[in-house]
Amino acid sequence: MLNRATSEELFKRASKVIPGGVNSPVRAFKAVGGNPIFMKSAKGAYMTDVDGNQYLDFINSWGPMILGHASDVVIDAVQKVLADSFSFGAPTRREVDMAELIVSIVPSVEVVRMVNSGTEATMSAVRLARGYTGRDKIIKFEGCYHGHGDSFLIAAGSGAMTLGAPDSPGVTQGVANDTLTVAFNDLLAVEQCVVENKNKVAAIIVEPVVGNMGCVPPAPGFLEGLRIICDKEGIVLIFDEVMTGFRLSLGGAQELYGIRPDLTTMGKIIGGGMPVGAYGGNKEIMQQVAPAGKVYQAGTLSGNPIAMAAGIAMLTHLKNTPSVYQTIEQTSAFISDGILQYIKEKNLPCSVNRVGSMFTLFFTKEKVTDFNTAKTSDLVAFGTFFRSMLEKGIYLAPSQYESLFVSTAITKEQATQVVEAAKTSLVEVFEK
Ligand SMILES: *Cc1c(COP(=O)(O)O)cnc(C)c1O
Repeated sequence: MLNRATSEELFKRASKVIPGGVNSPVRAFKAVGGNPIFMKSAKGAYMTDVDGNQYLDFINSWGPMILGHASDVVIDAVQKVLADSFSFGAPTRREVDMAELIVSIVPSVEVVRMVNSGTEATMSAVRLARGYTGRDKIIKFEGCYHGHGDSFLIAAGSGAMTLGAPDSPGVTQGVANDTLTVAFNDLLAVEQCVVENKNKVAAIIVEPVVGNMGCVPPAPGFLEGLRIICDKEGIVLIFDEVMTGFRLSLGGAQELYGIRPDLTTMGKIIGGGMPVGAYGGNKEIMQQVAPAGKVYQAGTLSGNPIAMAAGIAMLTHLKNTPSVYQTIEQTSAFISDGILQYIKEKNLPCSVNRVGSMFTLFFTKEKVTDFNTAKTSDLVAFGTFFRSMLEKGIYLAPSQYESLFVSTAITKEQATQVVEAAKTSLVEVFEK
């Protein structure tokens, strides 16, 4: 076992003064056993914990570190502007540069508003869709995560037509009633839901490639079908590209699949590691946002000048360096194909989903196409695999229901090392 004495000590202190010892539940190790590891620093493909152990990182801050940690591109940009002051509460040039950059990159975005997180982006986009359409209800998909806004914390596993039941205490039944949920990739269920709620649905919000139940790609025709339904029924189509944006291609999933949503929510990569989110889209809808229009949404630190400097540096680099996407595609394909080949050779009850640099090894024989199939995974087996990989210095997401993220910092040699480690760990999982 690696020595993690300092992490353990910090976790003990943290548990007394922070709920569960962490500032976001996904950082806990509850699903895999053990306590979270406290990080001290990171560079490139590696993170170093407070006890000096090194890990090859496949979370990359849940996406933002697409260039690896502490990329010079972002560090230089931030260092240059630190002395200009951290915030003004008045507009700055960098906000204009950032907005123009986003508009030039994301195909469907004509007008964009900066916020401070993905959650803020999705909450604001849904309010806007409601304000624009004058309707109350939204449709979301089971297993899709759109941040922790009340409207999104609804699972309603018993199908599309039943009223949503809150997934978290504190979400009112009133809010839950306005969130309709259907299975991902089930276009017929969406159609039926829309028919049963004629002229009541303001928006359909979707992760165009799901990352938050593990990586689940859209079935052929699914996103096209959503576009058609929304056009026919006057529903606002929101692509939540907080995870997929600037990752699956420069212009996100909408560019990859050639579908134009009405609104797009962004986060993660957009801030280069700083707390940044954005929502944008079609001009007619976006002009409803205050002060241009009546839908209120504001933020003291929105468009923060330091965060904008980081974001502009990141997005400019991605825009000017198409090889980023070739590199992460190749690395991801190499790792996931290597693991998949071994699974087939040994006939292991696992499956792999991958789109570009997002992929998940599911501990189930079934092809994972939605939340119900994702839930057939053997979580005990996943936990064993996770801990075994961690002992080998490979840091995976501590949950079966997450995607892994590959950065450009991972070399061919490290990718090979990961495949070999995964094989050994799979042996440990299935020989027990
Ligand atoms: C991470 C994520 C969010 C929430 O973003 P935060 O910055 O954590 O608030 C929303 N939607 C998707 C698809 C995400 O992956």
